[in-house]
Amino acid sequence: KAKEKGKNQYVFCSPVMKNQVAETMKLTNCLYRAHERNELILHYQPQISHNTGKIIGVEALIRWNHPELGLVSPGKFIPIAEQTGLINPIGEWVLRTACHQNKAWQDAGFPHIRMGVNLSVYQFQDSNIVTQVESVLKETGLSPKYLELEITESIVMKETSYIVEVLNDLKKLGVIISLDDFGTEYSSLNYLKQLPIDRIKIAIQFIHGIAVSNKDEAITKAIIILAKNLGMNVIAEGVETKQQLTFLSQRMCDEVQGFYYHKPMPASEVEALLRRDNTNKLQEVKGLS
Ligand code: C2E
Ligand code: MG
Ligand code: MG
Ligand code: MG
Repeated sequence: KAKEKGKNQYVFCSPVMKNQVAETMKLTNCLYRAHERNELILHYQPQISHNTGKIIGVEALIRWNHPELGLVSPGKFIPIAEQTGLINPIGEWVLRTACHQNKAWQDAGFPHIRMGVNLSVYQFQDSNIVTQVESVLKETGLSPKYLELEITESIVMKETSYIVEVLNDLKKLGVIISLDDFGTEYSSLNYLKQLPIDRIKIAIQFIHGIAVSNKDEAITKAIIILAKNLGMNVIAEGVETKQQLTFLSQRMCDEVQGFYYHKPMPASEVEALLRRDNTNKLQEVKGLS
């Protein structure tokens, strides 16, 4: 009977409800409970190196494994988490889970995979992100050079000097800092100069314009050249077609990520792919391929 009732309550926990304020409150409760009940999970999307054709890193992407709706995408609930402050506990959980996972892969024989974690701008406001990252690294035993923190351009809309300081402190820990969705928000080339950025992620919208729009192609080319001239690594997101891949390969884009290769997937599936990469590597060494 109690179970029945518990189940009914979930009917109200739908992230697709309309009526704004009340629904946001309900959803906030639901999200809070989801976190408590371990309904939040991470999927990981592989990133492929141009040089080797193999997985060089993954990006952790959160999903809400809703008992009735199935997997709910972060676009539906991250904004609510941000508005309500829940992004802080959730963000810390993401960081810890992702670092644990990468350490587990290292222990399983895949020592050089980079783990990307998305950071919300709100995590820079309301919590001490530097201390948090430092203690998660210590706790999980993951070397900082295998952790990539993804920020977006919106971060610099806040107090720039404060943000520069925090990013420099993060950088000092030895982690990789990347600029996500580059070119879509308040891009200023000055930020590339001021912030300790290691990597640029070219936004999906430009990649999807490859072979469709001369402008998107021009922008994509320019971003790759810009990154290289600044000594930064560059990755294209949202690669779905062979044409896009060829365009990016010809322009020596360092890495690609997208459905053409892999969708985001559970950790166990990533591990199977890593195993496959290792087997191929061995065969190449032995001259069997
Ligand atoms: P993002 O960080 O830019 O992540 C890339 C998004 O593009 C992911 O959507 C991924 O599934 C999607 N994607 C990858 N390859 C392709 C492709 O070939 N085609 C298309 N159409 N899409 C592709 P997802 O998982 O729905 O995440 C959306 C956004 O939610 C992320 O954008 C990120 O901003 C945010 N997010 C996800 N996980 C977290 C998290 O743990 N913390 C925070 N703060 N934000 C997160
Ligand atoms: Mg990202
Ligand atoms: Mg992105
Ligand atoms: Mg994004």
